[in-house]
Amino acid sequence: MPSRVTVVGAGLSGLIAAHRLQDAGHTVVVFDKGRRPGGRANTREHGTYRFDHGAQFFTVRDDRIRALLARWLEAGLVAPWQGTLVRVVDGRIKPAKPTTRYVGVPGMIDLALNLASTLDVRPGVRVEELERTHEGWRAIVTSGEDHGSFDHAVVAVPAPQAVPLLEAVPSLRDTAADVGMSPCWAVLAVFAEPLPMPFDGAFVADGPISWMARDTSKPGRPSAETWIFHANPEWTQRQWDIPREELPALLLEDVRDRWGPLPDVVFQRAHRWGYALSDPECRIGSLFDPESGLGVCGDWCVGGRVEGALVSGIDVADRLLDGVELT
Ligand SMILES: Cc1cc2nc3c(=O)[nH]c(=O)nc-3n(C[C@H](O)[C@H](O)[C@H](O)COP(=O)(O)OP(=O)(O)OC[C@H]3O[C@@H](n4cnc5c(N)ncnc54)[C@H](O)[C@@H]3O)c2cc1C
Repeated sequence: MPSRVTVVGAGLSGLIAAHRLQDAGHTVVVFDKGRRPGGRANTREHGTYRFDHGAQFFTVRDDRIRALLARWLEAGLVAPWQGTLVRVVDGRIKPAKPTTRYVGVPGMIDLALNLASTLDVRPGVRVEELERTHEGWRAIVTSGEDHGSFDHAVVAVPAPQAVPLLEAVPSLRDTAADVGMSPCWAVLAVFAEPLPMPFDGAFVADGPISWMARDTSKPGRPSAETWIFHANPEWTQRQWDIPREELPALLLEDVRDRWGPLPDVVFQRAHRWGYALSDPECRIGSLFDPESGLGVCGDWCVGGRVEGALVSGIDVADRLLDGVELT
């Protein structure tokens, strides 16, 4: 008989887990506190401007993700990014590691939107607590709405946000509590003219900026000269409390110091990511407590990054499907 499963978090890990469970015949309800699914693999829109302000691209090494990738490429949901990518080390430009980097089309969010389109995803619902009752799991949500009870629950959120949701199973809670994640200030900017840099994306080793990319160089993007700048975790931490509207000028100052005068900025915004990247060494796959039917997934379980999120989502779904007899 099919089970009712709730997944908290409609990032890529939660969405892929939800699909796998739904495909196996179970009824799945996904909650997300955001307005749209996608989590950190997202796209912000301001009028006709679009910015991939979180995940920039993804790489694929795992065979299970390769199989998904083939389908997504065929459907035109993702495409290789052919931009010129470099590393900037000690002020010198060197080629970036050669590998195929994929992006969502026309934005990073579109992969999540497509996955969510065939699931029961309930946006704008913040889960405060997962309560274990004799009927199963109940999601206690901020609005107080009753979403019914579930036989199983999967928590698919960044580790620090998972901690309060895992109170009912202390061993899972404690594992999540041990995982740190670093923050990131992102600046989204549109320039009146093309920037003079001889690249479309740069991993920057020294300085407040750790990454900068010409969003427009990705496939299917609008033609405006749109750039994303990510600050490194240490700089982000130091500037954490700075008013949002002051941040772009501060970070763009570093771009000018390094590359010289820039064309006029016609649009700028800052976005603060509290939990951007996790420890790449952490590779636990997922967590699962067969006794209570509570599972945990997320990029932080598999080295961070989009591919890690997808692998972890598949892992937790398979453990749920294998490890307990779904009632
Ligand atoms: C600035 C930045 C740059 C990055 N660059 C790259 C890159 O270039 N390549 C790469 O591979 N990866 C990159 N990443 C990492 C990548 O975005 C993540 O690894 C991946 O998207 C994580 O997916 P996830 O499903 O594990 O978590 P998330 O995407 O964080 O999804 C979790 C979801 O849970 C929701 N949520 C949280 N708490 C609750 C709650 N209590 N109730 C309801 N909903 C809740 C959130 O709203 C969110 O939608 C980057 C991330 C950032 C922030």
